[in-house]
Amino acid sequence: MQVKFSDTAKLPTKYGEFQIIAFNEEGSSHEHAIVFQGDLAGKEDVLTRIHSECLTSDVFTSLKCDCGEQLDESLRLIAEKKEGAVIYLRQEGRGIGLFNKINAYALQDQGQNTIEANHSLGFATDLRKFDIAVKALEHLHVKSIVLLSNNPDKISLLQDSGIPVTRVQPLIIAPNKFNIGYLTVKKDELNHLL
Ligand SMILES: [Zn+2]
Repeated sequence: MQVKFSDTAKLPTKYGEFQIIAFNEEGSSHEHAIVFQGDLAGKEDVLTRIHSECLTSDVFTSLKCDCGEQLDESLRLIAEKKEGAVIYLRQEGRGIGLFNKINAYALQDQGQNTIEANHSLGFATDLRKFDIAVKALEHLHVKSIVLLSNNPDKISLLQDSGIPVTRVQPLIIAPNKFNIGYLTVKKDELNHLL
């Protein structure tokens, strides 16, 4: 996999000043980002969030899931420690894309849960890939990470890819009346740590 990285630029945010690097796999139209604080080269136990894009929640503050809140909480924790990284991957809707995700939402409006809706549209539960995140961590010369995640599959995926995950730090997000069903499915059927 050939991955190209942009130069590093400053990114002031409401949580403090971060730096940002864009990157993409050659031949792919998906442009990802690393948003980070601190000099991470050679560091162990770097707080890291590997976040898959969720336009509806990250940008439009949808309450159907907790992605945006997990992203916010990750940036807040990294800023508090003045060290860490968010690797933002443009794989919307567990990898099925925005168009299909909205069709899945329409099925959910008719009573299907998040997994049933994806299956109705002919997609596997999760099509996300995290191998490009490995390249991002290598680019930063990070030695090992503390993964900010509630998803145990992501832990083993990363470990399989050769990234030493020292431990996992769950992100505690309060449920609301719109995402309680979604979070319950994640907890019961996808074994998330909630
Ligand atoms: Zn989401």
